[in-house]
Amino acid sequence: MDQRTPLNIAYDAVRAAREACKLASGRASAEDRDDGFPTEDISDLRRLGLLAAPVPTAEGGAGLGEEPGAGRLMEVLRLLGYGSLALGRLYEGHINALQLIARYGDAGQRARLFSDARAGHLFGVWNTEPPEGGLTLSVRPGGLHLAGAKTFASGAGHVTRALATARDPDAGATLMLVVPLEPGTRANLSAWRAHGMRASATGTLDFDGLVVPKDAALGDPDAYYRQPDFSGGAWRFTAVQLGGIEAVFDAWREHIVRLGRGRDPHQLARLGEGAIAVESARLWVRRAAKAMSEATLPPGRLIAYINLARLAVERAGLEVLQLAQRSVGLQGFLRGHSLERLGRDLATYLRQPAPDGALTGAADEILRAGGLAGDLWTGDRT
Ligand SMILES: Cc1cc2nc3c(=O)[nH]c(=O)nc-3n(C[C@H](O)[C@H](O)[C@H](O)COP(=O)(O)OP(=O)(O)OC[C@H]3O[C@@H](n4cnc5c(N)ncnc54)[C@H](O)[C@@H]3O)c2cc1C
Repeated sequence: MDQRTPLNIAYDAVRAAREACKLASGRASAEDRDDGFPTEDISDLRRLGLLAAPVPTAEGGAGLGEEPGAGRLMEVLRLLGYGSLALGRLYEGHINALQLIARYGDAGQRARLFSDARAGHLFGVWNTEPPEGGLTLSVRPGGLHLAGAKTFASGAGHVTRALATARDPDAGATLMLVVPLEPGTRANLSAWRAHGMRASATGTLDFDGLVVPKDAALGDPDAYYRQPDFSGGAWRFTAVQLGGIEAVFDAWREHIVRLGRGRDPHQLARLGEGAIAVESARLWVRRAAKAMSEATLPPGRLIAYINLARLAVERAGLEVLQLAQRSVGLQGFLRGHSLERLGRDLATYLRQPAPDGALTGAADEILRAGGLAGDLWTGDRT
């Protein structure tokens, strides 16, 4: 598909994601290495129109994520996560970047960057920094001069449009910059010797010495951290995680069917418990997507809900992992068994920032809310 041809309303992103999911799951084992990257899967996303799909309809795109309730976007993220959690993670970063551009970019920035998305560029959002200090900028003649690095940057060396947060010490604020990068440059993946998610190329990106024009900066100072979007956007990674949980569940179910162990009451009981966990995760993700999309809750309540959804999905993932490992046994720890890689990828991708803070922050909101428990999430502001 020519990405420069505007995607029309009839474009079926979910169908495209189903195809990408199938292809990706066939390749994911081969990509599971320290220097792995799902290059062919990303080409599929390009070919199937999924890299351009998040471009807003008002700007000639398919507006993936603009639909009421964000149901299409949830399905796309879930399916890609099912096919390959590394691919799902990369696509979630791409979506996040394009949504930030839609929200904060001026007309010129949007036209330029959406055209890049249509031309097949992969975007990423890089906010995490090394403890010793991260990316800074200084405003000087010639543009914005960059120094420092980002860490845990997925797609490092592959993302060609990086939305990175950079501190301006003179202004005492953080700016979002969209930085064009050449493939294979400035990335260091030597520290990414990970238990799982090996194919996500989550490395360090050195920005030292780069100079970008002033219009690389998006939105007002500190706009990146504006709530409820900053915390609420977490619903998207829960949708990817859900796909990973379903993949683990299916690998487990396939194993006990293949070995004829399904009639055993203990195996059946565990499978039933696992099915509850999978469906609980799905219901949380579905409602979190809807809550963010419709924004009928006040911001503090919305953030609390998304934080609880994050932890509910994490818990469901850990439960399914533990049940699957108990049911399959040692076979599921041998390289070559699908559960082995799927389990490592899921366990790694379930690690997201500050889970304790997410739980206690949500609990604090609930403590102060008053009223009836059943009304906490109804959107009734009275
Ligand atoms: C596969 C993968 C890809 C990623 N890609 C990107 C990317 O492209 N861009 C990007 O910006 N980031 C990326 N990240 C990083 C991600 O956003 C988080 O920074 C990272 O996952 C945080 O994990 P953590 O377990 O170290 O979290 P932490 O927040 O360090 O949590 C670890 C533990 O410490 C606790 N804790 C947290 N803060 C405190 C505190 N102040 N005091 C005491 N305890 C505390 C937590 O509750 C938790 O128990 C990626 C991560 C993964 C796994």
